[in-house]
Amino acid sequence: MGKVLIIGAGGVGTVVAHKCAQNPDVFNEIVIASRTKSKCDAVAKAIGKPNVTTDQVDADSVPELVALLKKHQPDIVINVALPYQDLTIMDACLECGVNYLDTANYEPKDEAHFEYSWQWAYKERFEKAGLTAILGCGFDPGVSGVYTAYAAKHYFSEMETLDIVDCNAGNHGKAFATNFNPEINIREITQKGKYYENGEWIETEPQEIHKTLNYPNIGPRESYLLYHEELESLVVNFPSIKRARFWMTFGQEYLTHLRVIQNIGMASIDPIMYNGQEIVPLQFLKAVLPNPKELGENYVGETSIGCRISGKDKEGKPLTYYIYNNCSHEEAFKETGMQAVSYTTGVPAMTGAMMFLTGKWNKPGVHNVEEFDPDPFLDVLNKQGLPWHEIINGDLEL
Ligand code: NDP
Repeated sequence: MGKVLIIGAGGVGTVVAHKCAQNPDVFNEIVIASRTKSKCDAVAKAIGKPNVTTDQVDADSVPELVALLKKHQPDIVINVALPYQDLTIMDACLECGVNYLDTANYEPKDEAHFEYSWQWAYKERFEKAGLTAILGCGFDPGVSGVYTAYAAKHYFSEMETLDIVDCNAGNHGKAFATNFNPEINIREITQKGKYYENGEWIETEPQEIHKTLNYPNIGPRESYLLYHEELESLVVNFPSIKRARFWMTFGQEYLTHLRVIQNIGMASIDPIMYNGQEIVPLQFLKAVLPNPKELGENYVGETSIGCRISGKDKEGKPLTYYIYNNCSHEEAFKETGMQAVSYTTGVPAMTGAMMFLTGKWNKPGVHNVEEFDPDPFLDVLNKQGLPWHEIINGDLEL
């Protein structure tokens, strides 16, 4: 039994709150806090349970966070605000003796650049304080790392190639919208691509490398190589991997909009003066794009995210392995009022917190998900709406 503080009340925060409330034997008290309290209140109202309360916080401010943590004294914070707030929330957790979990690695606001070094630098301080920090516990990063750990534990003596494949075959009926925070999403996709091969990181132009991949129950979709944060920790934690890549599907319509947005300067994060006021074009764009939280209602189709791995099995024979989940936008919406991208992130975040509170992932320090036992986590995912499937010795297409 434990008390959880969820910071952030966007699409992902809403799913986390619903899923925690569905598991009162583990989460007996739930506080949702965010910049805009009315959004937290709306989520609490939709859940309608007396053990769900709300509060307000600016998570860029360590003193405000410390006051919030002292007031509520949670066992763990689930950080589903934005990656900009990771370090302030970790600082406050250290100051107040609270455990920590997030779904995206730290990114400075003024530089579209993400890497684990900033958060890995907290390892010793969390260890000394006897506190656990679980990094990147959404779907990707998150389940992608747990799948890889599961493959290493049960199937491979040596993993040689890892391809994480992320397909959203859903349709929300809008000309252009992002499935999670537009600012974070556009910053990620417009960056150069990068993959790991034979101990080196190889950079590509954005969307330079692409390939048609077949997704279960969906069919062929054009998939683009891009850099994704979990590659950084997975090649460290599984050093036998010779090549690690990440692929994501995009439709032509989406890519055309993205190109126009870039060409006209709206993807820029450099502040400009407008009518005497400083604005950041990308932040302004976010304000006029559809809110990802409101996409759910008309969203049809499904997502399919998984890991395609090759290497040698426990006897040293060649093996290919594909482990994946398909998630329906309609089903996710019926259960939580959110689409599948928020759902597939929120369910693993709740599950990671559950692993911590039930003592299965309790290890002082700062850890990526693949450093923990994957079995109890995947057991829970099966029961909490994200069942997974395996294909052994199939064609990986990669
Ligand atoms: P949203 O933009 O929908 O929600 C973000 C929430 O954080 C909002 O409630 C926002 O408040 C709040 N927030 C932002 N800044 C602050 C602040 N300074 N203080 C307090 N609250 C703040 O994003 P999503 O729910 O789509 O995404 C949440 C996180 O999940 C992101 O970090 C994203 O990168 C991550 N993610 C991870 C995935 C994975 O698979 N690992 C996949 C998808 C997302 P307000 O409403 O007032 O703006």
